Amino acid sequence: MNTDNIVTLDHVSLNYHNLEGETPALENISFSVAKGEFIGIIGPSGCGKTTILSLIAGLIKPTSGNILVEGKKVDGPSDKVGYMLQQDHMFEWRTIQQNVMLGLEIQGKVNGESKQKVMHLLETYGLADFRHFYPQQLSGGMRQRVALIRTLAIDPEVLLLDEPFSAVDYQTRLALSDEVTNIIRREGKTALLVSHD
Ligand code: ADP
Ligand code: MG
Repeated sequence: MNTDNIVTLDHVSLNYHNLEGETPALENISFSVAKGEFIGIIGPSGCGKTTILSLIAGLIKPTSGNILVEGKKVDGPSDKVGYMLQQDHMFEWRTIQQNVMLGLEIQGKVNGESKQKVMHLLETYGLADFRHFYPQQLSGGMRQRVALIRTLAIDPEVLLLDEPFSAVDYQTRLALSDEVTNIIRREGKTALLVSHD
């Protein structure tokens, strides 16, 4: 196996179980992502894209097969992986700065250094002047940028992006997709983006 691969899915299948029965969502999926790569997975709604990201994030376990991150079997969420969900999930009663700090708070990593890093990210990506604003005072594109910065703040090796542009209009989507690509490249991250579009 190529040791430069940061994410590997090895013959992964996943069936969801509920009262109505069983839904086979993924069948025998194998692929690898090399460090620093930016991979897009495109497919229609319901084909299993979110399921793939949730498996890599360690939120669900495969029915069969293995998932490796940095060569280690995934057996739960880890701070190596940052997951930006389809909805931006801002807390409306928290300011932008407080929203961006959330992941660090959960991990108990709020300190002078991490605060400075967040401030630097907000400055670099044009949000410093809005740090005391509330989410509803921002445009959809700005909220998406905040969600990305929140994910970057925990300094993950791998970024998982679930339809990051679906909530914004076409013009904003074009601008934002360039911007997000640049941000991820500049921060030197590996990224997996899924989209139906
Ligand atoms: P996508 O993100 O590509 O739209 P998903 O990964 O969300 O697709 O879903 C893949 C399939 O699994 C779909 O048929 C969906 O209905 C089903 N599914 C997703 N989540 C669940 C769940 N929690 N319970 C049962 N079935 C699910
Ligand atoms: Mg989905």
